[in-house]
Amino acid sequence: MHTLKGKTALVTGSTSGIGLAIASELASQGANIVLNGFGDADAAVKQIASYGVAVRYHGADMSQPAEIEAMMRYAAAELGAVDILVNNAGIQHVAALEHFPPERWDAIIAINLTAAFHTSRLAIPAMRERNWGRIVNVASVHGLVASRQKSAYVAAKHGLIGLTKVAALELAETGVTCNAICPGWVRTPLVMEQIEARAREEGVSVQEAQRELLSEKQPSHDFVTAEQLGQLVVFLCSPAASQIRGAAWNVDGGWVAQ
Ligand code: NAD
Repeated sequence: MHTLKGKTALVTGSTSGIGLAIASELASQGANIVLNGFGDADAAVKQIASYGVAVRYHGADMSQPAEIEAMMRYAAAELGAVDILVNNAGIQHVAALEHFPPERWDAIIAINLTAAFHTSRLAIPAMRERNWGRIVNVASVHGLVASRQKSAYVAAKHGLIGLTKVAALELAETGVTCNAICPGWVRTPLVMEQIEARAREEGVSVQEAQRELLSEKQPSHDFVTAEQLGQLVVFLCSPAASQIRGAAWNVDGGWVAQ
């Protein structure tokens, strides 16, 4: 155990949901953690500290390249250059293309895609130098297949998988890997907002809206858990995964198999 002892992991958007679960699984393996995101950072810091690892928090807004640069400098100064980079911060907006607010498009592309370009370009030099590194991009089934009313999100997640492949190729002769994970429905605040909105629109209970959502797309009719995604990231950081490069791992209860 503690297979990642001494490594520094930066997980963007890790104050809640999937990011916090990924940070927790990495911390359970001994990695020191830099957290990022909005909301209750103190609770997230406490949760990670309970694993007995070093933990820092930086509140960079991932839509702002200058703040991303400041966060990368802070991480290196506090805990050493980033060994494991998890690009997880993400937002969503649901609207038909012709009604999609242009400013929401820009924000979704900036946070879900462009931020990963900036963190990666800034993390790669030290990873190359040490000939070890892991970059994991949290994409989505929407990086592999589309859904109506999610134009910016689908475009950003498809782009993120493209970026993953290019990074993997450029790093192929080094000990640095880059892969994407593609969750289906995971029960997090992001998804609960959508379920609650749907329940309001249709005048049904939250439980009914949740049942409909799962039965439409996810053949297992069950949520993926954030912990399962964290365990997959730990696996991608392990020696067994050193030749997994440029892959997009769907963890989706069978969604894209249909
Ligand atoms: P969440 O809303 O619980 O967490 C999102 C995190 O990103 C939070 O920590 C939030 O503070 C942070 N964040 C948002 N905007 C930010 C910004 N501008 N700068 C810095 N941090 C910011 O959502 P989640 O469901 O845990 O989503 C995490 C990732 O997983 C996202 O990339 C999302 O697209 C992806 N994903 C989620 C699901 C799902 O079903 N929940 C499915 C597939 C993919």
